Amino acid sequence: MLEARALRKTFGRTTALDGVSLEIGEGEIVAITGPSGSGKSTALHCLAGVIRPESGEVRLDGRRVDTLGEDARTRLRRENFGIVFQFGQLVPELSAVENVALPLLFNRHGRQESSRAARSWLERLDVAGCADLRPGELSGGQLQRVAVARALAVGPRVIFADEPTGALDSLAGEQVMDALVGTARESRTALVVVTHDNRVAAYADREIVLRDGAVAGTSTAGASTAGA
Ligand code: ADP
Ligand code: ADP
Repeated sequence: MLEARALRKTFGRTTALDGVSLEIGEGEIVAITGPSGSGKSTALHCLAGVIRPESGEVRLDGRRVDTLGEDARTRLRRENFGIVFQFGQLVPELSAVENVALPLLFNRHGRQESSRAARSWLERLDVAGCADLRPGELSGGQLQRVAVARALAVGPRVIFADEPTGALDSLAGEQVMDALVGTARESRTALVVVTHDNRVAAYADREIVLRDGAVAGTSTAGASTAGA
């Protein structure tokens, strides 16, 4: 469904991606792991259409993503992708329910419908009680569950999560991963999660290990070829 071929990306003299190819299937849960600086975030940003690779291709359902102009890529992202960052990145001036409703409004849904849908997503993620609070009033775990609700609200094909538990203690991290993976599976949304935490990678159907900007190995539920 989502496919990257031979991605290359440099920042000055740093080669962040040096020929990364990978594929994400419909509803598949994939972890991208590897040491710090191995290109995980850059790969995620290329897949999600946030940045463009210098060469290589990204395709969604066979259609090129990387060659689209800024506006078309923004539209494609809003309609097909949800993104969860390490630190929520909610709008601080808006309440939780307003934050979750925002992408629905961007996708031209009505105000009432957006607000109703946003509340129901907050319920599914067990943070309905936070609906009218602002991000500054929420715990780290609550923030991330609101961020997951916001990512899922548009009914995306793929959710991208960059170290979604990186700022949380292990209990809150587990709750966020349970909620993220549970709702992704229920709604048959693919999930691509960048992490250096083995407990997070253990949720995935498949793990792709990057090293020095290249794929060093892949493993599916237990059988590892990484480092071989
Ligand atoms: P990871 O997510 O695995 O830690 P990154 O994709 O963030 O790796 O980074 C890969 C390499 O590219 C690192 O050497 C990093 O410093 C560099 N890099 C990433 N983004 C930028 C940027 N915007 N400007 C300069 N260098 C960058
Ligand atoms: P991570 O390893 O989780 O990606 P980083 O701290 O490496 O976290 O990167 C955070 C942000 O900073 C990313 O958007 C990345 O593109 C950017 N970045 C990373 N390395 C550099 C760098 N050397 N110069 C400028 N920006 C960078």
